[in-house]
Amino acid sequence: MSYQSIKEEAYEANMQLPALGLVLFTFGNVSVVDRKAGVFAIKPSGVPYKLLSPEKMVIVDFDGEVVEGGLRPSSDTKTHAVLYKHWAQIGGIVHTHSTYATAWAQAQRDIPIYGTTHADHLTVDVPCAAPMSDEMIRGNYEHETGFQIMGCLQERKLSYQEVEMILVGNHAPFTWGKTADKAVYNAAVVEEVARMAFLTESIHPGVSRLKDSLIRKHFERKHGPDSYYGQ
Ligand SMILES: [Zn+2]
Repeated sequence: MSYQSIKEEAYEANMQLPALGLVLFTFGNVSVVDRKAGVFAIKPSGVPYKLLSPEKMVIVDFDGEVVEGGLRPSSDTKTHAVLYKHWAQIGGIVHTHSTYATAWAQAQRDIPIYGTTHADHLTVDVPCAAPMSDEMIRGNYEHETGFQIMGCLQERKLSYQEVEMILVGNHAPFTWGKTADKAVYNAAVVEEVARMAFLTESIHPGVSRLKDSLIRKHFERKHGPDSYYGQ
């Protein structure tokens, strides 16, 4: 079993990150899960995007152990493993250090919902998880990052199926989705929403958040039972 289809899917999804301007050098990674096989395909560590190929993707299980592949998996692999293990409905995960979303993470701020672009995707502020504790950092850091993400959603009573993006304080965004393509799409969305929120506050410090009626209207026309929003 060579896991060919998830390797190809992971390769294509990883190549979208530089194409969308979401990564520099070797930053960032996408993974794709095969639930039946209990493994995921992820980018190898430290390989430039132009040298990637489907064969170079590394196959890893939900404990973060390499099942197949000649290269070291991405250094963030254990974070992906924790999320796949606990969130049965996700098919792909993305991590980038895209500039604006990372700036909000570094500022340790949620991205406030200021407009309908944000509301089309999410009815709440993009959550920013607290920075990791010293104990977590000294321990199994990447593994603990997964728990930091899950803990933040749990604390705020948010579901991973409704909120498919988060910032990890001091660090950067993580996004996910039913497919790797959706996770990549969400990585682009969080970057754009972060950029718009930054510009909005620059133009008008003290601006108010979007009113509830518009939040509901925009979310429902895209996601509700009577959705009519095309793209
Ligand atoms: Zn990172």
